[in-house]
Amino acid sequence: MRRTQMRIALLALPALVGSVLITTAPAGAEPADSAATVGSGRSHLEDAEQVRLVRIQLTGADMLDKVTAAGFDLEHGLKRVPDGIEGEAVVTAEQIAELKAMGVEILGDGEGFTWSDEADGGIQTFRAQAAQTLSHEQTVRVVRADWFTTKGQGFLYVEARTTAGQQTNPIVTMQLENDSGPGTSFGSARTMSRFVDSGQYMFHRNLFKLDARPNQIRVTSSTGGVTTGYVSNWLEDGAPPLTANPGYKSDFVDGYRTPQQLYSRAEEIARQYPDIAEIVYLPNKTNGYQRKAQATIGGTGQSAVVVSSAAWGHEGGNDITVEFVNRPGANLPLDVEVNGKAVRVLLAKNASGALASTAAQVATALKAQSGGLIDRAHPYRTNAGTGIVQASSPVALTDFLGEKRAGAPEGDVPRGPATIPVLRIGKHRDGRNPGVLIQAQDHAREWVPATTSLESAERLVHNYKSDWETKKIVNNTDIFFILSNNPDGANYSFYNFASQRRNMTNHCPDADADPARRNSWGVDLNRNYRVGSGHDGYSGGSTSCVSDTYQGPEKLSEPESKNIIWLVEKYRNIKFMMSVHSNGGQLFWQPGAYIANGRITTPRPPLGDEAFYWQSASRILSQVKAHRETVVTPENVGGSSDVLYSSAGNVREDLYFNYGIYAFGWEVGGSIYNPATGNWQGGSFQPTWVGNPELVSGHAETMEYANGIMEMFRVAADWGTDNKKPTSQLVPGRGNYSEPVDVHFETSEPATIYYTTDGSRPTLESPRYTATEFREPGQVFHVTETTTFNWFSVDSAGNIEQNYDPKNNDTRNNYRTATITVGK
Ligand SMILES: [Zn+2]
Repeated sequence: MRRTQMRIALLALPALVGSVLITTAPAGAEPADSAATVGSGRSHLEDAEQVRLVRIQLTGADMLDKVTAAGFDLEHGLKRVPDGIEGEAVVTAEQIAELKAMGVEILGDGEGFTWSDEADGGIQTFRAQAAQTLSHEQTVRVVRADWFTTKGQGFLYVEARTTAGQQTNPIVTMQLENDSGPGTSFGSARTMSRFVDSGQYMFHRNLFKLDARPNQIRVTSSTGGVTTGYVSNWLEDGAPPLTANPGYKSDFVDGYRTPQQLYSRAEEIARQYPDIAEIVYLPNKTNGYQRKAQATIGGTGQSAVVVSSAAWGHEGGNDITVEFVNRPGANLPLDVEVNGKAVRVLLAKNASGALASTAAQVATALKAQSGGLIDRAHPYRTNAGTGIVQASSPVALTDFLGEKRAGAPEGDVPRGPATIPVLRIGKHRDGRNPGVLIQAQDHAREWVPATTSLESAERLVHNYKSDWETKKIVNNTDIFFILSNNPDGANYSFYNFASQRRNMTNHCPDADADPARRNSWGVDLNRNYRVGSGHDGYSGGSTSCVSDTYQGPEKLSEPESKNIIWLVEKYRNIKFMMSVHSNGGQLFWQPGAYIANGRITTPRPPLGDEAFYWQSASRILSQVKAHRETVVTPENVGGSSDVLYSSAGNVREDLYFNYGIYAFGWEVGGSIYNPATGNWQGGSFQPTWVGNPELVSGHAETMEYANGIMEMFRVAADWGTDNKKPTSQLVPGRGNYSEPVDVHFETSEPATIYYTTDGSRPTLESPRYTATEFREPGQVFHVTETTTFNWFSVDSAGNIEQNYDPKNNDTRNNYRTATITVGK
């Protein structure tokens, strides 16, 4: 069950970064013999293990990693709290005990959790002690200071770093003060929360309520450093709607949709709007909404036998019965009789006329002598099967798929492998326009991502003719919607087991292959990719086949993940991707995975890409906010492994590093500020569709997050038509300085700078201008002697400053240059 942590060399990754640069576009003893028959019909043992949702608290990422590796499902709704990580887990009673034994605190049942934003330290009397130091030797830096309002309440979010942050004896404390607007004095000092992940100091941070927008903040470290910073606005207040057109049509989706409903609507859209829409069928069929028919016969001890049909349940497996027969007499051999679909195991008897076949022997006889009806039979779990098998009346094997859960939608689910249609929308579907892949419901129980994606598609086709902004999107982008990338699992979630996360592929060995484990099989599709993979030692994927983050037996083992790679390789114009998940209220990009020992992340995107991600996130989330003031907070935006946890082998890392695709991960829903309680309230995977329209409601989430997807299309359209070359400057500029000087680069738009300081011509192999630290602005160079900087900048769309050609021998050498002369 426990995952092996492998250390690996990062040899392959620099090469991957290189490809990004070039494209720029980026889980006993048995009772004594008894003449009684055990069980008739179906055994109670085959009830799937019951799960429930509990709120938990972990001490930190180390514990999260340990618990995840042990196969627990803690994936969604995780939130950093001052003294650790809070989240929700879908667990059995047995697993709750196991969690407690690992040190996890169980907070209560899963009605969503709240985090009081005054919880981290409170207000203290405080006086700054040190004067501000020079920037190049600054020991305290403001990473971000963001102001936003939601539902009538203002919030300030601050991240700050101290160079002494890793120090633990004593632990460095940081104090934050804010003013109340321009010209007002600092006050209300608060102790900031120190954020440590896998033993590494990240930064200090706080989110707290304020009634007035501050203009500046001041952060002071217990080691003496102090700095001030200006407050920025996070998201636009009253962001302009996507369109001012009063005839703009929205609100098309009126309830949750099964995969069949999603796919049939996709095909219908393609028929109704043939000029702008078509279907692309993905080549790899899923492994199917189907299971082998099974039974566990004779308890769970050494005499128990687990049998599985060779045929899928719906293809005849469900018609099979297995009977263990006690014949009269003595000295009888073990034998198997087959009559139609009735399998009779004639148990052996010894010289004194007692039953004499062990479970292991019966299993072997069933596999060899059932006429091909049973191809898998074994003792229960890890038993050796040494117990004597008792007689049993005929037991009907079942795939359990006919047993619908309470509240399941009407209708039968088609059995067998499914073909996934991609709904492609765009006026020009020939590769000329930037492609955008919207991939929903990798995780089966996440129902809102599917409705959000469908709503977006409906808005495109219904408004194309009547709304100019929509027409611009459709004319200038090439959009690929996968409305559910996990139809088998999604059907299992709708019809059988609401908490299903993975697909339905059973990769388990015999020890975990009995039917009571059926709700624990499958591969986590978002752990099955190739970059930053658990197979290479990255954190957050499990090798256990019954873990909810099971990464699969190998990279790309599953048809659903193979299909994504096929799609982006066939349609090389795909430059944007959104993997839509729920719930949590987060927007992520790279890095999204790390090796826990040393916290080695996948490579950080160049500063230009990072800035472009932030700019795009701001546009997308401002449109989400425009619907009902839902704010995705800045602490939940960025490289996912920087702010939350590592997800080994996620799709985003693969598409970004291998294909230069701007690949976002989105957790829609959840974390809404509730002014009635004064707390933030978490969401759920399957919120009541109507619900409370101001808080948790599948409908409201669908509408607000569809706004964000529409804005992502506009980001892509703008990117595709961006011919504007970036400009950049060294600040301060060239000139004579009597003393050493601190310089940094600034750009006119999100762009990456390549520079030299040895007089040589800058190329794409030259050093890249980087952030001082992650989530911070660009580094500061402390220039102590005369230095010439040569550089150029490249924007997110690949436009190069002054049309300089860094690859070829550009005789114009029209890169930028500036000499800083010191001491003259
Ligand atoms: Zn998910």
